[in-house]
Amino acid sequence: MHRFFIPRPYAENMMIDGIDARHIYTVLKMKPGEKVQIVSDDGVTALAEITETAPGQTLVKCLEVIAESHEPAVKITLAQGLVKGEKMDFIIQKAVELGVSRIVPLAMEHSVVRYDGEKAAKKCQRWQKIAESAAKQSKRDIIPQIAEVAAIDKLMAECDCTTKIIAYECEDRQGLKQVLQSNLKTDSILIIIGPEGGISEAELDKARSGGAVPVSLGRRILRAETAGLTALSAVLYEFDELGG
Ligand code: SAH
Repeated sequence: MHRFFIPRPYAENMMIDGIDARHIYTVLKMKPGEKVQIVSDDGVTALAEITETAPGQTLVKCLEVIAESHEPAVKITLAQGLVKGEKMDFIIQKAVELGVSRIVPLAMEHSVVRYDGEKAAKKCQRWQKIAESAAKQSKRDIIPQIAEVAAIDKLMAECDCTTKIIAYECEDRQGLKQVLQSNLKTDSILIIIGPEGGISEAELDKARSGGAVPVSLGRRILRAETAGLTALSAVLYEFDELGG
């Protein structure tokens, strides 16, 4: 069933407008009486029936609140070192499917790409759209937020996750599994992943002073896009969120 996020609080009668309404009218060609799922911005998911359609707006009547949540109990923030071109789009789409809560694109010393000012803002808007369509497709109850491009200092100053880890390619003492298993009661985790060029020592120090624990993801060096998605999947698995 199609799912639409409505940026308004839940009410019995609601309106879907903008791109979604156009999509319902011109592409899906839905008619009154057909059912959709809606998610309001206060987090209510409901089964609704279309009562009216027009190119610019669809009116729906909510029939039943669906209590079932699709969200992981553990909130995961993925701070991903900026990677080239479409790889970032791919990471965002897949991370949202898997269940990430928030993604922070990290500008790092060894990032090959740099986005400043207007370019960064445009990229974020594009990434937010990718997150929204991935959230719809994977039946999330929230649209994960794509934060502004930030440096590691800002990330560490603002992040309030109770557990913080940084995947560090030169770490050979602590593995991800070990660190997660000693933190199974945590409700929020920050995962920091470096860019193609890796993490600098200065960045590692900043992450450490902000409370992040360096972890290894195994004996092979993964590409940045593999590392982020692998770490995210492993965290979800460890917290019984991948079919556990
Ligand atoms: N250019 C670097 C590798 C960068 S890999 C080199 O050749 O050493 C990109 C990022 O993925 C790393 O900064 C790290 O965050 C993560 N990563 C990749 N493989 C990893 C591993 N085996 N253990 C921990 N982190 C890893």
